[in-house]
Amino acid sequence: MLRALSIDQIAEITRGELIQNDHIQKISQIAIDSRQVSNPEKTLFISLVGAKAKGQDFIPALIDLGVRNFIVHKGNSLKRELLAKANFVLVDDTRKALQEIARYQRSYFEKPVVSITGSNGKTIVKEWLGQVLSQAYQVAKSPKSYNSQVGVPLSVFGIDAGHQVAILEAGISKTGEMAALERIIQPNLGIFTNIGSAHKEGFSSQESKILEKLSLFKGSDFLVYCKDQELPASIIEQEFSADKLIAWSDKAGADYTRSIKIQDVGAKIIFIKSDLSTMTFHVPFSDPASLENITHVLVGAMTLGLKPELIQQGLNHLKPVDMRLTLKPGVNDSLLIDDTYNNDLAGLKVALDFLNLQRPKKRKILILSDLLQQGTAAQLYSEVAEMVKSHHLDQIIGVGQHIFQLESFFPKQFIGYSDTEKLLDELNPEEFSNDLILITGARPFGFERVVNKLQQRIHGTTLEINLNALTHNYNFYKSRLKPETKVMVMVKAFAYGGGSVEIANHIQTMGADYLAVAFTDEGVTLRKHGISLPIMVLNPMEESIDLCHQYELEPVVYSPAFFKMVSNYCQAHDSKLSIHLDMDTGMHRLGFEEKHLEELGLLLEAETRLRIASVYTHLVGADEEIHKDYSLRQLKLFKKMKGKLEHLLPSSTLFHALNSAGIVAFPDFQMHMVRLGIGLYGVEVTGKHASSLRSISTLKTTISQIKTLEPGETVGYSRKGSLPEGGKIATLSLGYADGYDRRFSNGKGYVIIQGKKAPIIGNICMDMCMVDVTDIEDVKAGNEAIIYGEGISLKELADRIETIPYELLTNISARVKRIYYLD
Ligand SMILES: *Cc1c(COP(=O)(O)O)cnc(C)c1O
Repeated sequence: MLRALSIDQIAEITRGELIQNDHIQKISQIAIDSRQVSNPEKTLFISLVGAKAKGQDFIPALIDLGVRNFIVHKGNSLKRELLAKANFVLVDDTRKALQEIARYQRSYFEKPVVSITGSNGKTIVKEWLGQVLSQAYQVAKSPKSYNSQVGVPLSVFGIDAGHQVAILEAGISKTGEMAALERIIQPNLGIFTNIGSAHKEGFSSQESKILEKLSLFKGSDFLVYCKDQELPASIIEQEFSADKLIAWSDKAGADYTRSIKIQDVGAKIIFIKSDLSTMTFHVPFSDPASLENITHVLVGAMTLGLKPELIQQGLNHLKPVDMRLTLKPGVNDSLLIDDTYNNDLAGLKVALDFLNLQRPKKRKILILSDLLQQGTAAQLYSEVAEMVKSHHLDQIIGVGQHIFQLESFFPKQFIGYSDTEKLLDELNPEEFSNDLILITGARPFGFERVVNKLQQRIHGTTLEINLNALTHNYNFYKSRLKPETKVMVMVKAFAYGGGSVEIANHIQTMGADYLAVAFTDEGVTLRKHGISLPIMVLNPMEESIDLCHQYELEPVVYSPAFFKMVSNYCQAHDSKLSIHLDMDTGMHRLGFEEKHLEELGLLLEAETRLRIASVYTHLVGADEEIHKDYSLRQLKLFKKMKGKLEHLLPSSTLFHALNSAGIVAFPDFQMHMVRLGIGLYGVEVTGKHASSLRSISTLKTTISQIKTLEPGETVGYSRKGSLPEGGKIATLSLGYADGYDRRFSNGKGYVIIQGKKAPIIGNICMDMCMVDVTDIEDVKAGNEAIIYGEGISLKELADRIETIPYELLTNISARVKRIYYLD
């Protein structure tokens, strides 16, 4: 942070009301997540409300930890004793307060601030520009893709006095958001990458989306853009005075006219400036998207006055950026966090925080290389040490020359190696078991080799789950709910195929209120892996009530007989149990019917050991407009049943009815809670908001072999497939035993290879299937094939074989490895 602040200053900046109890050190760190506090006495904790867990609930624990400064919402319900224990600034809007502090800090940075916005490529342009500029300057940049209303302020706090240029990414999803980011960033130089159709929903038109994004640059000295993108270019040229604009184009007439020569490796980019001077750069790639991104970087760097020789030096080290932080199954039940592209403190903090969010394991281990950040090593590594210390690691393995500085801070935990080869020689995977291992290193250290050595051998097919997309979808539904409506997330059936434990852990960190599983065993697994949220069990068997009791799981009770059984169990064991009551309003699956309510009423009156946590019903056709009347009748009946039961139940009993489709279709019936399922996993079944959700999973496999077929030869069992003209087929290591539906046989399904469709040929076998790749050039064994994910929607695939996305998701076999990442 640029300026340490006193609590009075904070109150003034945020125009908050100050309750001061403690005169202590100035504040130099800001936290919004209780697990990320590393220096309690110097930290200001801002309790944000909204989709994340309610920050306010953590305040007592933070006070115990030593935090003494808080910003909380004015209408908070904190007890008076608590308010007397620390300094509190009360504000109307805590997020706004966070932004105001960032704006204040920004105003003290006198060096250039570059800001990047647009639809695609923001993060890559930011990273590459950072790599290029670091040839000459100390660069501060947003970590990962921290570009939101909260991410931007946090990025600003990463700037300190030693930095010579800051690069901040800005992303918005609806009208009105950019004004807040503009106030904070105040960019000197803007880069507008491009415009796509993502997030259409938050804007009234393409023009209004572009205008909103451009408002970021209203006070900038310069704006870099591509003149060949017609709509944005025409708006830019209308809105900004010409002397600010720096255009590049593949045609003549721009400030920088670009021509490209593709070479054996990479490409040559030649610019002709308006004064007819030229300059040439070599870049290590040749695909159009990377070339567009790097052109923004080159023009941006030249505008900042960086010499072409230095720019070229930066390009020589450039690698395609994979910003993903990936969670992978490791040897002996360990869990790996793969962060093999990271070279600075800001990135290290994100990775360490992610480590802390994982469920508990035996040991926490960090494998870390030298940081490639400029600055004096002693200062840098004492900051690293401080950061590492607050994350309580059991072992630290360092690789490089400077990293040895950590040894004096951690004499017991630290082991160092001068290079990655030495580490690989000595690394014995058998020494790890049930550990959580963060592997984070700068690119030149090639830490992917370390990951390879420690990861569980992965069978050719993997299901990759994007945890950021999961958060995005959760927030989409949360934004449609009243703030007080609770969310139960359905993680039944292995979390709709995604893998229940990791997903449940992520949901828990997002601040959901409840989880639900189908069977008791599923709940037991979650508990054994450290999941602590309340868990409802939809279909408990009589014999599993004992387990429910033992693992604090809450069974659904759906008939008078079952109620009596559970009640008798509690009598016999002198114990209590929380339960949920299922009302059948038209599903006719399980549940109390209206005619049972009298008997239920008597049972409830006599009952003392069972706590009724909630009462719910389930809609049979919330996703389909034609069943709207039926759904409304169900909801009406549920309200009537609620009326009959309410007076027999404690006021804390939650009533709920809506599933994912219901949240969208019947917003007036949220009651106390909703039950979110398929929508979280990226499928919007009503079809109304499909573009607002992100696909969370990608199912991938590899090509085992390529074969050439003569005309008339057949493929696979029963000779079902053939290519009349002959051609080329690829054999994939994916079959119906992996959950790839056999109904996709004989051209019903297809996969994507090199961006092109490859139809299934012949019958799908148990562990393999064959696809026609006649029209796809240079396919090789080992190439990747995408079964579904971004680009092939589950809905479309489901329609092709006349089923529903739920079935495709939940069919993926347990032998397919799930890996999780943050992008
Ligand atoms: C599965 C299930 C849900 C979730 O339904 P989605 O359509 O996946 O949102 C909600 N309630 C009950 C009782 C369920 O069984």
